[in-house]
Amino acid sequence: MKIVLASRNAKKIKELRELLSENIPDVEMLSLDDVGIYGEIEENGETFEDNAFIKASVAAESGYIGIGDDSGLSVNALGGAPGVYSARYAGEHGDDEANNVFLLKNLENESDRTAKFVSVVACVFPEDKEHGYFFRGETEGVILKEYRGEGGFGYDPLFYCEPIEKTYAEMTAQEKNSISHRGKAMRLLAEFLSKKVKG
Ligand code: IMP
Repeated sequence: MKIVLASRNAKKIKELRELLSENIPDVEMLSLDDVGIYGEIEENGETFEDNAFIKASVAAESGYIGIGDDSGLSVNALGGAPGVYSARYAGEHGDDEANNVFLLKNLENESDRTAKFVSVVACVFPEDKEHGYFFRGETEGVILKEYRGEGGFGYDPLFYCEPIEKTYAEMTAQEKNSISHRGKAMRLLAEFLSKKVKG
């Protein structure tokens, strides 16, 4: 089974390959570059579902199963922000440090620091590109007042998970994978695809 992930992030592709190969032995994971789809995909949706679907549809143009994912942080005291704007919360796309500083500033006077990470994965089949199957993973946590941990990326050093008493940035890759929003959504996708394979 050939699957195209709408990402150029080698870590994401490897992670998905590992998860899927547990259930689908002959899975072959391809990137957009592998199938000759170049250029940026404009993520202009208003929901995680919209953006995941936009990416999965582009990947399905390859003629193989297309997968797209979109994720972000949703903070209760901020009405769900930064949400789909997580990557560019402070203005510039992908400036993790500025995003974290901006988040801390916006929470300065808030007593409720609860939040969740959300990941939505969309799957589009090439024979029916209008239709998407969606898988959502969520992980709850609390936004700390100071950074803890060196690993990960994005908001990881501020996102504290009470059940295991660590921030995402303090977890090993395996630990994060086992409880993270993305891990949960990807495992739901893996279950769905393995059922499809078995018919
Ligand atoms: P993407 O949709 O996976 O590219 O994520 C969009 C943005 O959400 C990232 O740039 C990060 O700011 C944030 N984000 C998503 N997942 C994580 C995570 O696991 N840790 C920290 N930040 C994340």
